Amino acid sequence: MKIAKFGGTSLANAFQIRKVCNIVLADPDRHIIVVSAPGKRTSDDIKVTDLLIAVAKARLAGDSYDEELDAVIARFKEITDELGIPEVIGEITDNLKEIAGAPYTDNVAYLDSVKAMGEDSSARLVAAFLTKEGHPAVYCNPLKCGLYLEHDEAGKARILGESYDNLENLKYERKLCIFPGFYGYSKDGQIITFSRGGSDITGSILAGAVGAECYENWTDVDNVYAVNPNLVNNPFPIKEITYDEMRELAYAGFQVLHEEALYPVFVRGIPVHIKNTNNPSAPGTKIVASRSKYDSLVTGIAGEKGFMTITIDKYLMNHEIGFLMKLLKIFTEEGISIEHIPSGIDSVTIIVRKKYMTDEKEQIIVNRIKNELKADSVHVEKDLAIVMIVGQGMKKSVGIMARAASALSNAGINLKIVNQGASEISLMFGVSEAYTDYAVRVLYKELFRY
Ligand code: ASP
Repeated sequence: MKIAKFGGTSLANAFQIRKVCNIVLADPDRHIIVVSAPGKRTSDDIKVTDLLIAVAKARLAGDSYDEELDAVIARFKEITDELGIPEVIGEITDNLKEIAGAPYTDNVAYLDSVKAMGEDSSARLVAAFLTKEGHPAVYCNPLKCGLYLEHDEAGKARILGESYDNLENLKYERKLCIFPGFYGYSKDGQIITFSRGGSDITGSILAGAVGAECYENWTDVDNVYAVNPNLVNNPFPIKEITYDEMRELAYAGFQVLHEEALYPVFVRGIPVHIKNTNNPSAPGTKIVASRSKYDSLVTGIAGEKGFMTITIDKYLMNHEIGFLMKLLKIFTEEGISIEHIPSGIDSVTIIVRKKYMTDEKEQIIVNRIKNELKADSVHVEKDLAIVMIVGQGMKKSVGIMARAASALSNAGINLKIVNQGASEISLMFGVSEAYTDYAVRVLYKELFRY
């Protein structure tokens, strides 16, 4: 059994939805289909999820939301008319009106319930279209199927363990199951959405629940590329990549799947196959637990801006037992997540993401380090990008670091930080933010164009 998840561009209009249905029917193993809300039809179009957010925001502001809701209904009506299922628009419209106009007490819960209606409507219409074409399909409501979520301490949606057992029952449904992505329900029946792009997580949860042979994630690119295709011409396509490599690249800005989507399949060793709805015969990219052959020493290169460093100097720091522990405790108590900790003999640098640090927090942390740890100096710098070179193939080879570092130095790029984890599958360089894209290009030229 395969789970096939289709993203917003794959469902943007009736033409795309026909392609999706052809793909679904081409393989009888595709039994559970997860759908996103219709995405952009052209680059300047608006995603249905964003139209729905506008509906909810207008209502929450106490304004009329008729115009915003009409825009959503118009998007779905165009699709149902073109697919020859005009009867479905009545059901979708009633549902949208009911949810948008429902009484609410909590703004976030109301916004979530409206936001989820893009996926919900997509699933209803895909199921109706397949059935009309002679392929019985059922719209699966996440509440009826038992996809239960709760909010964690940070307000993020987290799955309740019992959901996996509930969702396993979909294996026994004889009709094709069309499941809306992006949301589930709290135990008291409130809709909870994942963060944006979260239909990827739904697909992964379902793959885990039924123990799928493969989780297909259908999007609008032929492959994942070794480097951002906006930065170099004809980048090297990745045929196979491990979960670990993917995690490292995603960390440095590679946007393929939602960040939380790999976990449910990773723990069960289910491979993910990234495929193109507009070119189904392209081989795509497989994300797997382990691979035996490598097309290249390096699998991918990525760069991300937005980091800052707090460097602490204290004479004889290395003799002071517990110094690091006390330092980390300050960050923990102030609720700031630490990304990396490169260290010297009498100095240590804490790297964090700028988006999590406010000016006030920074001041508090710096003062606490000075006062509580009696540091000689604390120096903050807010200009750091991380560039990662990732590849299982690097484990067995000598000299990648030397080549990468000399290519960067020949290009006049100063290395602020260098780090290689003991796993040897990634090399990390810290550079000035202005050099991020340039550094990625220089490294790609050096390591892929051998
Ligand atoms: N429709 C949602 C979004 O636009 C979720 C998704 O497509 O995965 O973020």
